[in-house]
Amino acid sequence: MSAIILDGRAMARSLKDGLRQEIEKLKRKYRTIPRLAVIQIGQSPDLVIYLRSQERTAQTLGIEHRVYKLKPNIKEKKVIELIKDLNENRQINGIMIQRPFPAHLNWQEISRFITPQKNTEMISPTVLAIIELIEAAKVDLKGKEAVIIGRSDIIGRPLAMCLLDRRVTVTICHTATRDMLFHTKRAEILVAAAGKPRLIKPAMVKKGAIVIDVGINKVDGKIMGDVEFEGVVKKAGFISPVPGGVGPLTVVMLMRNVVNAFKSQRTKK
Ligand code: NAD
Repeated sequence: MSAIILDGRAMARSLKDGLRQEIEKLKRKYRTIPRLAVIQIGQSPDLVIYLRSQERTAQTLGIEHRVYKLKPNIKEKKVIELIKDLNENRQINGIMIQRPFPAHLNWQEISRFITPQKNTEMISPTVLAIIELIEAAKVDLKGKEAVIIGRSDIIGRPLAMCLLDRRVTVTICHTATRDMLFHTKRAEILVAAAGKPRLIKPAMVKKGAIVIDVGINKVDGKIMGDVEFEGVVKKAGFISPVPGGVGPLTVVMLMRNVVNAFKSQRTKK
């Protein structure tokens, strides 16, 4: 038996259709469109890929995607000045600072200057994408055992909170976890967000589990996740592939956050 594939691309397509129609209506009502300001600091092949994908999605949806390019050696003070300007700019509805990010800057420190009403990562789009995929399995989540690999501020921790809201029992594993196998083997929901290619082997997975692969790793020029897909697909009940799982849905969730920000800013006027 092979697992059911949680097809992030197909889900993203259908969510985009709904979002496009909603934006069309908002445009007619308010005679303006939602605008997202993305702060790009420095340049890297990954940044180019992420920004291109955002731009394409924004364009098909009818959202304006403005990129503010800053030099890699920019001082924190200057980034904060730009954020403050964007906070004041009534044309801008959503703001995000694109990762990867130069090491001399502290993302947490800087992003807290984004006004909450415009912060498109207040609820992490990646976490929203993961929840969407888990819910697509249409399994009652209450009381389920979930194991998340990775304790980062942008994935592991906020995801744990979202799962707790759904009354899931949550364990987070990380590099200091003593016996990861002990935890993963009993996981009914297993989320791999370590950024380590092929970390999750079939022997680590409980039969029938929902496996969500968040990892994006470049190996020999190819993108692969944290899960050894070809083996795990035979054991899991549901699995999200890489590419074609969390990634395409994350972009749509980001755009949905922009639209929600737009709507709440309009209704408050
Ligand atoms: P991070 O480096 O901040 O955190 C990785 C976490 O994994 C750490 O908590 C670390 O303790 C843990 N970890 C690393 N190796 C481990 C191991 N061998 N065993 C157990 N735990 C281990 O990374 P992040 O920003 O949280 O991103 C994680 C992955 O998700 C990366 O591959 C990243 O590219 C990907 N990502 C994907 C999306 C998307 O939209 N699909 C978005 C953001 C990040």
